[in-house]
Amino acid sequence: METLIKSGEQAIKLGADLIKAGEIVAFPTETVYGLGGNALDAACVQKIYAAKGRPADNPLIVHIAKIEDIYPLVSEFSERNKRVVEQFMPGPITLLFPKSDIVPDSVTAGLKTVGIRMPKLEIAREFIESSGVPIAAPSANASTRVSPTTAKHVYEDMKGRIPLIIDGGDSEVGIESTVLDLTGEIPTILRPGAITAEMLADVVGSVRTHKGEVISSAPAPGMKYKHYAPTCPMVVAKDMDSLIAEYDIQSQKGLNVLALIRGQAVQAMAGRKYVNLGNNDSEVCRNIYKAMRDGEKVCDYIICIDLGENGLCKSVMNRVMKASGGKVV
Ligand code: AMP
Ligand code: MG
Repeated sequence: METLIKSGEQAIKLGADLIKAGEIVAFPTETVYGLGGNALDAACVQKIYAAKGRPADNPLIVHIAKIEDIYPLVSEFSERNKRVVEQFMPGPITLLFPKSDIVPDSVTAGLKTVGIRMPKLEIAREFIESSGVPIAAPSANASTRVSPTTAKHVYEDMKGRIPLIIDGGDSEVGIESTVLDLTGEIPTILRPGAITAEMLADVVGSVRTHKGEVISSAPAPGMKYKHYAPTCPMVVAKDMDSLIAEYDIQSQKGLNVLALIRGQAVQAMAGRKYVNLGNNDSEVCRNIYKAMRDGEKVCDYIICIDLGENGLCKSVMNRVMKASGGKVV
């Protein structure tokens, strides 16, 4: 199958036509690129799992274009949940509700809850709206690979497997959505993202956070899988001294090492190879996956500086710790 990469109105129209014909299409969102199909068509949902090589017990997120599109998909909608929706949608967050019967079990991996997201990126919403159905979509990478934040990343993993990639440029946020379970008394974060616990607590009073390090059994089925990993080994360095020491040890072994650092630390690298992730937290978040994808192509060992626990960087570190299998030097 030939995989086209197209942008603009023509791409949205072609994408919507393909969805109506039961095909799957990669599309941009503000978090990462998604691989979408008709969420109400179980056969189409199977194509998504097949194209990614994704285990069938890892549920998909259902993407919508308008807030009222939530109602047919859920069996319950409380006042509190309405507040969360109004405050954070559209945006980089997925909300879990008790599912209605029209959502196929394959979308939710047999769970009684459905994850719903309304992207902020206008191209994404136009594509969903033109398709005329809710769009089930995981990230558009091959299973276990780093999530794509450009059309080119999607092409690397999905070439020949899907008919179309809608190109919307670089994803602005750069990591996957916050996943918030709204089915319990206290909303619970299952996956941290750009909408932080503090932002949520402001609206709902209290939220239970989920410690993201390395998880073996977790409430979100997807969490037990190794995710977001580059194809070469990666470790986290707790500070710049450790990073330089580890760099030199691995280089002396003959490995081609790459450091991922913040702009402020560039001077300390003194001739060693590095990628500057950025000078502020949102730049770092936007660039982290690109740095891993580019890095794995040109080196055989990646060392990422500990980015700290403040706000957005806490969510970025959740991904970095997964990518490194929790190994800190
Ligand atoms: P991806 O978009 O590739 O990051 O995959 C979607 C992720 O959303 C899954 O791995 C789950 O962690 C989460 N998710 C989606 N739907 C549900 C659900 N109903 N219950 C728990 N987690 C979910
Ligand atoms: Mg994913």
